[in-house]
Amino acid sequence: MIPLPLREVVAALERLYPPDTASSWDRVGLVSGDLDQPVSRVHFAVDPTLAVIEEARAAGADLLITHHPLLLRGVHSVATTSAKGASVTALIENHIALYVAHTNADVASPGVCDALASACALVDVEPLQVLDGVGHGRIGSLASRLTLREFVEHLSTVLPKAVGGIRVAGPADAFVSRVAVVGGAGDDFFDAVRASGADVYVTADLRHHPALEAREEARGGTPYLVDAGHWATEWLWLRSACSELLRALAGQGTSLNTHICTLRTDPWDFVIGAATSDNTGGTS
Ligand SMILES: [Zn+2]
Repeated sequence: MIPLPLREVVAALERLYPPDTASSWDRVGLVSGDLDQPVSRVHFAVDPTLAVIEEARAAGADLLITHHPLLLRGVHSVATTSAKGASVTALIENHIALYVAHTNADVASPGVCDALASACALVDVEPLQVLDGVGHGRIGSLASRLTLREFVEHLSTVLPKAVGGIRVAGPADAFVSRVAVVGGAGDDFFDAVRASGADVYVTADLRHHPALEAREEARGGTPYLVDAGHWATEWLWLRSACSELLRALAGQGTSLNTHICTLRTDPWDFVIGAATSDNTGGTS
């Protein structure tokens, strides 16, 4: 296998996930590495944690592509006394380039939300909301209606497992067919979800107040809520990113070794005392 210069891999990534489509607060693109360094093995992960970087190092990766930024806020030190500093040091000492595609991958097509829509087995998928010409989230239909429980049971078979499982608000035996999705934290999109007429909204990181208020507004009806986990809903994108990158570079007559990280970077390790509630469909 002939290694590719990093600049060619970065150029392909920037065609797939244009940096100017990222949110203004975001920090995407190349974090470490030299554009002239050779790349022959690429790792894909949601989070650039120390364990993920170590896995990439042990596998001999030259490039780690993550969804979440390592450095989102200003830093004044990359000493190994902080985890961020230790991460930067490990990347540089081991000649591992780090590339981040975050909110630009969320809105890309195919991107994070398309991967989640596909996992939900949606057809006729379109943007949930278009802002400044950029489509955010996705909405589509199930080929045939399912009960809320059947739908989420299907979803659990295609998502990677996290300790928190999948939380659902709504009656388990209600039928659903229109599904809105936003990978990662999605509680900014409740107005768009309501306007879309979705029966169920699949997202993650739903906080108490926005979620409870959405259920109150729905008076126990639709849209039902599915909190499928931040890491799990975004992990689905890694396979898409890997295949899209290989496809983009295959046009140049090259190929790369790739690996999709399976380390669970969801931060939670166990759950105690969960209530067992079958089908109350609300807070009563
Ligand atoms: Zn995220």
